[in-house]
Amino acid sequence: MELLTKNLNSKTKKVLHRGMMDNVMEQFNRAANHINLQPNIRKILSITNNEIVVHFPVKMDNGNVEVFKGYRVQHNNALGPYKGGLRYHSTVDIDATRALAMWMTWKTSLAGLPFGGGKGGIQINPLKYSKSELERITRRFTFALADNIGPEHDIPAPDVNTNSQTMAWIADTYMSTRPPAERSANQHVVTGKPAGSGGLEGRDRATGFGVYYSIKLWINNNNDTLKNKRFIVQGFGNVGYWAAFFLEQDGAKLVAVQDAFGSIQNPNGIQVETLFEYTKSNNGSIVDYPEASIIDKDVFFGVDCDIFIPAALGNQITKNNAPNIKAKLLAEGANGPTNIEGEALLIEQGTTIIPDILCNSGGVIASYFEWLQNRNGELWHMEDVMDKLKHKLKNSFDAVATYAQKENIDMRTAAYCIAITRIEKAYVQRGIFP
Ligand code: GLU
Repeated sequence: MELLTKNLNSKTKKVLHRGMMDNVMEQFNRAANHINLQPNIRKILSITNNEIVVHFPVKMDNGNVEVFKGYRVQHNNALGPYKGGLRYHSTVDIDATRALAMWMTWKTSLAGLPFGGGKGGIQINPLKYSKSELERITRRFTFALADNIGPEHDIPAPDVNTNSQTMAWIADTYMSTRPPAERSANQHVVTGKPAGSGGLEGRDRATGFGVYYSIKLWINNNNDTLKNKRFIVQGFGNVGYWAAFFLEQDGAKLVAVQDAFGSIQNPNGIQVETLFEYTKSNNGSIVDYPEASIIDKDVFFGVDCDIFIPAALGNQITKNNAPNIKAKLLAEGANGPTNIEGEALLIEQGTTIIPDILCNSGGVIASYFEWLQNRNGELWHMEDVMDKLKHKLKNSFDAVATYAQKENIDMRTAAYCIAITRIEKAYVQRGIFP
């Protein structure tokens, strides 16, 4: 019986993740067809460069040893070192990691950064482990990855369920295992570290700010303002919270939120900061927030609003819920939140999608600034960071909006076309070794 359940579970998971790869490949092929990508380069970009799978033992608090499986997938490094987050979640497996690594390649290229794309993680539910267990898991994972990561080779960052603390442990472990003279020169092996340990002022809010700023740019392009616009957010973690924070500052109104534990709504508005404070005393969850009512998981998607920000996991918007979505703008804070069928329905309904590789690129752009800061032995100020971030985000947004209009295509395909063309150019210039 147990075996049967196990098999069923792994079958369900497989279907979900085959979907992630299906999505990214379909998006890629659509753009590759549009730009007539050279067939040899299509072959290279359709597959990952390296896939590292490690198993490592960790001593638990109760004295038992658990063996974990960790992944790091390096998709492409034509434009620079592999770059991308590490995720601790039950949905992490090789297929999901491949898809997420590919998304990073397009994201860094579109942002005009000298980075390639990678992604990694561990298939765990971090809520099941104590802080000291998570520290040992993280340190031992770093040790197992060894020279597969490095400040000029592959640079991890936070992602779902990892944060600046996780990055501080990785940096410390990596640096501690280098020869003494090299130790302090290696802190840019990861980005998203705490400010004070090599981290960048503003890196914490950068992804959410980017989501907000792309929405603002889109609204401005449509001669409108954010004042009184109603928005809903799926996921109230680092991305969802900061996006909501900045939108509220511009006069927009948060009317519904969904997290892993439930969904709430208040058509009169939910105060972002008050909700955030509440989650801190409620194990990180929004559920039972007194100033809102609880709604069903599926009802959340149909809440009346102008803007929908999925800022949680992949494959959330599908053919099952897309027809209920009222928002005219979908701003993808998460990676791959909309699957192919969901996207087709949204486009048919006249909903604009600001695609993930543009919308959530603020995080990796700020990561690049952190990497530069460490590499050059500098300490940047918050105002400079935010100014530079805005500048880069606007460049990308304008390039995508202009391309989409000129070619009469959706913003996702336009973003992919720009990203892939840059990588194609690098291959054409350099040729293929030997
Ligand atoms: N995990 C984030 C992303 O998906 C940030 C990656 C990075 O900063 O390297 O874009």
